[in-house]
Amino acid sequence: MISLANNKDLKPEDFPSDIEGLRMTRQRREVLAVILRDRDHPTANDVFLRAQDRMPTISLATVYNCLEALVTHNIVRQVNLDRESSRYCPNLSDHCHFQDEASGKIHDVVFKEGVKLEDILELPKGTKISHLDISLKGNFGNR
Ligand SMILES: [Zn+2]
Repeated sequence: MISLANNKDLKPEDFPSDIEGLRMTRQRREVLAVILRDRDHPTANDVFLRAQDRMPTISLATVYNCLEALVTHNIVRQVNLDRESSRYCPNLSDHCHFQDEASGKIHDVVFKEGVKLEDILELPKGTKISHLDISLKGNFGNR
């Protein structure tokens, strides 16, 4: 698999014809490129508006279908914060989301080196974590 996580300059035409078993149609390429480009956790509507720059004929329904396929094939992650619209994140490594209340922007935050969930949470004995979804809200103080 190509490394998508750290490659924000990949152009849609650079993607392989198949990623994680998903055939990369022109529309899926555009949608994925949009998500990789800005990494600001866009909503489906944000993706739609941005994808239109290069593909004016793409519809919102197509964008939704593309996003669903990309999420199902673990190429991008769907992020749900509160009751807001779902957002999309290309970072597949374990991380949490921090929403800056002042700007509304969502940032990826990672665990400190070597820290495991079992070290900080009282998990029932035998618990096996299959999915991590932690979101935090706050601000950056007086920055
Ligand atoms: Zn993220």
